[in-house]
Amino acid sequence: MSKIPMELFQVEVTAAKKLSRDFVRISLASEQLSRLAAPAGDGNEQVLDSYIKLFIPHPDRTDPVVPDLHDAWRKEWFAASPEERGGWIRTYTLRDSRPWTSAEGKNGVEIDVDFVLHPPEGTDEEGQSPAMGPGASWASSARVGDGLSFIGPPRDGQLWAMWKPEQADTVIVCADETAVPAAMSVLRTLPTGCKARFLLEVPEGNGDLVEHAEPLLARARENSDVELHWLERGEDGVRGALTLQALREILELEPKEEDADSPLGVRLPAEEFVWQTADHPGSTYVYLAGEASVVRAARRVCANEAGIPKSSISFMGYWKAGHAES
Ligand SMILES: Cc1cc2nc3c(=O)[nH]c(=O)nc-3n(C[C@H](O)[C@H](O)[C@H](O)COP(=O)(O)OP(=O)(O)OC[C@H]3O[C@@H](n4cnc5c(N)ncnc54)[C@H](O)[C@@H]3O)c2cc1C
Repeated sequence: MSKIPMELFQVEVTAAKKLSRDFVRISLASEQLSRLAAPAGDGNEQVLDSYIKLFIPHPDRTDPVVPDLHDAWRKEWFAASPEERGGWIRTYTLRDSRPWTSAEGKNGVEIDVDFVLHPPEGTDEEGQSPAMGPGASWASSARVGDGLSFIGPPRDGQLWAMWKPEQADTVIVCADETAVPAAMSVLRTLPTGCKARFLLEVPEGNGDLVEHAEPLLARARENSDVELHWLERGEDGVRGALTLQALREILELEPKEEDADSPLGVRLPAEEFVWQTADHPGSTYVYLAGEASVVRAARRVCANEAGIPKSSISFMGYWKAGHAES
């Protein structure tokens, strides 16, 4: 099996900014980031929906996790406990990239990562909200000057990106809160002249995101017919229900009271793989990213009800309800 080229990057937090109730933007910079795959390593914002893998340090540590990426590192990492190995690996979108100059006048690159500060759904045995996972928890307390490391695509590699609309004339993007950063990023690279519909389902109370999206939306509208639909899920709302309803609307399908064919709220087994990217999208490109059971249900609506070829649909289970990333 061919190995994906990767490099370990060390960075420092240069800014932490609350974007809305549940979103925080952490900026990370270093000279070494110039070695990231282009265009990210050039400080160019066209980073698509590319992702990186952060080493989230265990709360007991004050220094970043710096593993030796030898041939067997992955096996050793997952065999060890979080305490032994120093933390967790979590996947996040490289939301933005720009040139940066250090206090010493050295050139490098600064990137942004937008974290969702999510408490897991449900309650624990005592009826309390469970604690946030390590990724969300780290982001909620990150301060300027904190160190972090991540693995990402090196200079001689390609961005780890899935976005591939080619020359589609209709683009449909469904994203939950964890995929909003990816959806915002791909707004920059829509096929010229296309009709693009974005269905973005986020927890109620994150209205400030609309304002943050405005400049990107205005730019995208210069070349394409773009609509962003912010779907606000109430505290008691079923995750994905608003997305499926809106999806049926834009696909001109009959509304459904109950989603018997595409059940929502099911907990998928940890080992179920919900990930496939479109080969050659053709005239319609569908991009679905977010919680795995919702993504799976949305794909069924597109393929089984609307008859969109499966080869035109990319679906990516970014996370699974009830399961930590690793
Ligand atoms: C390619 C890719 C790109 C991604 N980009 C981003 C990004 O830019 N920003 C971002 O915030 N996330 C992103 N994610 C999702 C993120 O990796 C997961 O949400 C991850 O589980 C967060 O790690 P954690 O340590 O906070 O929680 P974990 O320890 O992994 O999970 C703890 C518990 O929280 C639950 N959980 C995880 N995410 C959520 C959520 N959003 N809401 C409610 N419960 C949840 C889990 O099911 C589990 O029960 C991306 C994932 C992928 C695969």
